[in-house]
Amino acid sequence: MSRIKAQFCLKCGSAMVEAYDTGRPRQTCVACGFVMFVNPVGASAALVLRGDEVLLIKRGIEPFKGHWAVPAGYQEEDESPAATAERETLEETGVRVEAELLLDILFVPDDPRKAANVALFACRAISGEALGADDAAEAAWFALDALPDEIAFDNRELIFDRLAPGGELRKRLDLLSGNGGLGVVD
Ligand SMILES: [Zn+2]
Repeated sequence: MSRIKAQFCLKCGSAMVEAYDTGRPRQTCVACGFVMFVNPVGASAALVLRGDEVLLIKRGIEPFKGHWAVPAGYQEEDESPAATAERETLEETGVRVEAELLLDILFVPDDPRKAANVALFACRAISGEALGADDAAEAAWFALDALPDEIAFDNRELIFDRLAPGGELRKRLDLLSGNGGLGVVD
């Protein structure tokens, strides 16, 4: 059963009960039959590289308040995944970026808020200084081999470990730059 539960029907306001529907228990309205399907939410993250440095934000809110992460956020309903990555990076860091390459879809089932599919984009920095803003307390560039200890979510396992030489994400970046190393930014 999903962690997300509605006590009352979103459509008619009647009580919701647990009932089997298409293979698993789901919350179902006793009056109108509305079934609440709970799916992973769409989100985007930005891997912004400058030489061997990466742009990170220090989270100003829970979960993982005070820990560092790549800029990321939830997708608006009228927004493409690439536009989400660009908007979130600008909001959280003040750096304007262009999403260049979809590197991966990161499945994050254990986010305490809700499960998410995170589209991770390699982004090129266009302009702006790194300054924390919005729900980020700080923003800063870190050398990939000198990342802060406190890393939020599964960023270390899902992103940074896979950027090591020979790692899966590194190989994709190398393709983007014609095998010229981390050539996402000039
Ligand atoms: Zn209902």
